[in-house]
Amino acid sequence: MFARKRLILGIALSFLVVLTAVAVGLWHVSFHGLDDLTRLLLFGLGLFFLLFIAMAFLGVLGVVLIILWQRPIPFLERPVNILITRLLPLVMYLGRVFHIAKEKLERSFIEINNSLVKTRSLALDPNRILILAPHCLQYSGCQYKITANVNNCHLCGRCQVKDLILMARELGVNLAVVTGGTLARKKVKKLRPRAVVAVACERDLSSGLQDVYPLPAIGVLNERPNGPCVDTCVDLARVRQAVESFLAGGPKPEGVA
Ligand code: SF4
Repeated sequence: MFARKRLILGIALSFLVVLTAVAVGLWHVSFHGLDDLTRLLLFGLGLFFLLFIAMAFLGVLGVVLIILWQRPIPFLERPVNILITRLLPLVMYLGRVFHIAKEKLERSFIEINNSLVKTRSLALDPNRILILAPHCLQYSGCQYKITANVNNCHLCGRCQVKDLILMARELGVNLAVVTGGTLARKKVKKLRPRAVVAVACERDLSSGLQDVYPLPAIGVLNERPNGPCVDTCVDLARVRQAVESFLAGGPKPEGVA
């Protein structure tokens, strides 16, 4: 179950061990040899580090337990939040320093996020669900401006925007096509969904999911048969499965990313 998720959790734990060593080191120096003021500053810094580390350790524990037990653990919500929004971006950065493929880390994060969301038993009205699709799904030769309004699509069928529109209409959920993170955030702010199904590449998904956290959002990776950002596509069955998981009685998706 943890095969793909353990990469990012492993790095996070290693990072925490290093931080613990730094914090203990600072405390050690504070008690041996420097003047009182420096000692106090170092003590405060060490305390800050240790509190952060404790929260992050609890966050890692929370993620593991939530995924294993398949249910939310309310008292660990805050540490998990800190882990997702504060520590994991740092872990992504560290991974690059150690030459771990960025996409691998991002996929690992998306897997963790989807597994956490899956444990929440949501039964939402369809109109509180938003599908966010990237602009690159639109056929590159299409002249219609669908980012302002998806209904500008003429449903010609040359790209999957037509399929997504028909799926959204059938299920009664909202659909927006966005050019990037800024527009995506605007749509979320405007439509105020209770849950999001986001389609994008690894980079946009991992940053977007962190942005909207703790709003439940399932990430579905797009496919790039023509290279990045042009005429991309998506597994429609996975999008549908993700949407249905938010609806009353819907199946919970397995490995949607
Ligand atoms: S399906 Fe819609 S967005 Fe895609 S090419 Fe046709 S008109 Fe354009």
